[in-house]
Amino acid sequence: MTNKSWVCKFEKPETSPNSLEPSTTVLSPYLKFGCLSARTFYYKLKEVIGSSAHTKPPVSLIGQLMWRDFYYTVGCITPNFDKMKGNPVCCQVPWDTNEQYLEAWTLAKTGYPFIDAIMTQLRQEGWIHHLARHAVACFLTRGDLWISWEEGQKVFEELLLDADWSLNAGNWMWLSASAFFHQFFRVYSPVAFGKKTDKTGDYIRKYVPQLRKFPPEYIYEPWNAPLSVQRQAQCIIGVDYPKRIVIHEDVYKKNIKRMSEAYKNNKSGQESSKRENAPTSKNAKKARKK
Ligand SMILES: Cc1cc2nc3c(=O)[nH]c(=O)nc-3n(C[C@H](O)[C@H](O)[C@H](O)COP(=O)(O)OP(=O)(O)OC[C@H]3O[C@@H](n4cnc5c(N)ncnc54)[C@H](O)[C@@H]3O)c2cc1C
Repeated sequence: MTNKSWVCKFEKPETSPNSLEPSTTVLSPYLKFGCLSARTFYYKLKEVIGSSAHTKPPVSLIGQLMWRDFYYTVGCITPNFDKMKGNPVCCQVPWDTNEQYLEAWTLAKTGYPFIDAIMTQLRQEGWIHHLARHAVACFLTRGDLWISWEEGQKVFEELLLDADWSLNAGNWMWLSASAFFHQFFRVYSPVAFGKKTDKTGDYIRKYVPQLRKFPPEYIYEPWNAPLSVQRQAQCIIGVDYPKRIVIHEDVYKKNIKRMSEAYKNNKSGQESSKRENAPTSKNAKKARKK
């Protein structure tokens, strides 16, 4: 609050998932446990902003509090909000069960340094940036591993200091394009996304120290480094750091097709259930008799 200009200029999409100093407030654990009241936060923001020029929802700080209330509200009125089955807002997707992939993701052993760095920060510190959550959630679900968002939700529930039931479920549905967000063809690259805000890979060097001696051109894709470079970096891929578990360039295209199928099936499913419940003359007669 003392940094008025920062508050007024705050734009969530412009913050960085992999800066070594957090680029957002990191107040989420305090809000979750009630150490900081959301109302106090809101009115203080109003006071600080005053009549100055400032960013607006959904990207401003007040916008972030609105997201919080949005998920609380929808979580409160939606049956089975933390599940796919029986949840009326959630797209029904035939996710795979793959213990090996789930374990690699959970234990930061996917072979994708950006993903593993984020999961390591989560395991060590209990907090990761919102866009870092985007990257690992997309990777686990519709992007790469095709594993249910419910599995990711459980891992976040255990490891996040700010784990908050409705925010966690709602955001997992968003990222897996199961509800609220439907542009499933927009997939985060586990290589290119992190590079945008950290070209030299300092974040990876901190959280995946086996890779710290890799030159910047290979740190996001160490499998492409010639053996001589791997030797020089004292880290052989497949020995000291895992080989990547999936080939992103191949799986994401396959997964977009699977998601497109799921959307089609949901639409036809919804239409037939609408037809069954529609007030046809036969149904209406039945209803009147009842
Ligand atoms: C898959 C996934 C799971 C998530 N699970 C949780 C969770 O369990 N608990 C949790 O608090 N947040 C969760 N979030 C939302 C968001 O990532 C965090 O609230 C935010 O990163 C916390 O950091 P901050 O306090 O610095 O946020 P700031 O950007 O400083 O925002 C201030 C506050 O606004 C609220 N807020 C911000 N973004 C969101 C959002 N997208 N949805 C709802 N409220 C928001 C939070 O209370 C946050 O503390 C999740 C996001 C994703 C993508």
